[in-house]
Amino acid sequence: MTSPLGAKVIAQALHDLGVTVIFGLVGLPVTDIAEQAIDLGIRFIGFRNEQACSYAATAYGYLTGKPGVCLLVGGPGVIHGMAGIANASANAWPTLFLGGSSETSQWTKGGFQEMDAIALLTPHTKRAIRPHTNSADAIVTAIHDAYRVCWYGRPGPTFVDLPTDFIMTPVTATGNSRRRPVLALPKPAATPDTISAAVELLKHAKAPLVIIGKGAAYARAEQPIRALVNSSKLPFLPTPMGKGVVPDSHPLNTSSARSVALREADVIILLGARLNWILHFAASPKYRKDVKIIQVDISPEELGRSNSAGQPALSIFGDISTVVDQLNEALRAGTPLSKPSFGGSGPTYLDAIRNSALKNESKARTAANTQTRTDMPLTFERAFHIIKETLHSISAPENGDVVYIGEGSQTMDISRSVFPLEHPRQKLDAGTYATMGVGLAYCVAAWSAYNLPRKTKKIVALEGDSALGFAAMEIETMRRHEMDVLIFCMNNSGIYSGDTADAADWKAKQARLLNSSGSSERRDRLKSSSLMHEARYEQLAEMVGGRGIFVKTEEELEKATKEGYAEGRVTVVNVIIEPGNDKNISFAWMEKKAEAKM
Ligand code: ADP
Ligand code: MG
Repeated sequence: MTSPLGAKVIAQALHDLGVTVIFGLVGLPVTDIAEQAIDLGIRFIGFRNEQACSYAATAYGYLTGKPGVCLLVGGPGVIHGMAGIANASANAWPTLFLGGSSETSQWTKGGFQEMDAIALLTPHTKRAIRPHTNSADAIVTAIHDAYRVCWYGRPGPTFVDLPTDFIMTPVTATGNSRRRPVLALPKPAATPDTISAAVELLKHAKAPLVIIGKGAAYARAEQPIRALVNSSKLPFLPTPMGKGVVPDSHPLNTSSARSVALREADVIILLGARLNWILHFAASPKYRKDVKIIQVDISPEELGRSNSAGQPALSIFGDISTVVDQLNEALRAGTPLSKPSFGGSGPTYLDAIRNSALKNESKARTAANTQTRTDMPLTFERAFHIIKETLHSISAPENGDVVYIGEGSQTMDISRSVFPLEHPRQKLDAGTYATMGVGLAYCVAAWSAYNLPRKTKKIVALEGDSALGFAAMEIETMRRHEMDVLIFCMNNSGIYSGDTADAADWKAKQARLLNSSGSSERRDRLKSSSLMHEARYEQLAEMVGGRGIFVKTEEELEKATKEGYAEGRVTVVNVIIEPGNDKNISFAWMEKKAEAKM
């Protein structure tokens, strides 16, 4: 009996691991792996650029709680895919990358797409390995190991390098190389003393706060965390992707008073979030100098990483679900926590939060309700309000029917507070790395995670016009795979606020520039953040037989939202937004003056 091709062994190993979807872009030498995988019933989603498929695999890992798998050609393919490797690492999302490489006989001779991917990727992955021979056993062992390592502990990227001859020639057989799937994810518990210490800290807290990060969403810890918040009446603050672990509509949600909630808290229990730029490094004056932080994380190296004075007060190594279960148990057994009463005789913690929330919410309401004059372009606030209201009138986002993707500076920042989330893992945005260019890849990932093998959710993307451009060709990928994603392109003709001139000026300026020989005067020069004025991005969908809708007015937007939601094919709604308006740019995460934008 002849031995099987390496490609077949590789595909079989993935199948045996339980992989059902592979994101990739084929070419020599990995095409056969994709073909063999398809023959085994694995869904292969072929992209137009490795960057996008690498991003998609990372988000799929996050949404499904199991490693996403990405297949790349060697050399330049792996280089393009490094974007996803960095993204998986920064976000702590489990992703297995498989890359082809040149024939072993050509190494050091300038072989086809020769590159030492192992040396390149070792510092950026949890593990980068190459099977030591082309025996079936060595190949399967490498894939198995990389799959396990990207998943266990703190999730992240791993990489397997597969030389051409290991893929395209028969393997040297060594008995039965089939393996059972990797054992279920270990979920370590906290030591009893740390649980008692946490209960003690919470008991004496006057202004306790639970911070819920995307690690909690990834860990599927919603049940125990909801129980903790409800039974002990603890105010909570989700990070952007921690939203929905506890419903946004919960009365103890402090999102619209984020600054006050952080600044006044005396004991914080940190569940699946890092004290990085998103949480202002837990430093004063954003936080009290004497705040006590109880940090819970699956990564022991993360515990105590913040260099703010005295942080954390308590480190708990363990899985969030397990640890919060333990905490709930201990709290149930002991005396109940006292009601938060920050400030002694002054306003209580909850009152301070409520007052600030009311102010912020009223500001947001005014912006959302200010109708657009017919001769004026829509604002972000008004457009998002219309999209949200329309979606709520025709579907049930509160039941979790809709998964949102948000990307672009203003698009992401402003939409974040507009669309409430009642369920976890239903929002993807630029994440820890603040990466632009992930949105359309995330649409494909979310569609695959929620609609294979059976359709359960509508994917709705809110994309800035700049953000959309990074991977616009993936609209073809969506159409080819019959993914009925609804994409709103929030088109303000630029990055951030685009050109600062008003719309009419902008248009005239652009016309002059297009007609000039290039030596335009300074007053005519477009800002570096400018993009084409009113580019017809909806035609990207029409180009592949999807639906494109161009929108300028409130009525058109409402109609487009209704029709786009009901469409059975990829739809791009190109929403013209007032350009040059930077009154909304607050960089909420970074600047001291910024107020709640979560
Ligand atoms: P956010 O962007 O929401 O602030 P981060 O990505 O910064 O969240 O932090 C997520 C944290 O969650 C990481 O430090 C990661 O190690 C941790 N984490 C992931 N899974 C688990 C788990 N099962 N149990 C505990 N911590 C986890
Ligand atoms: Mg823009």
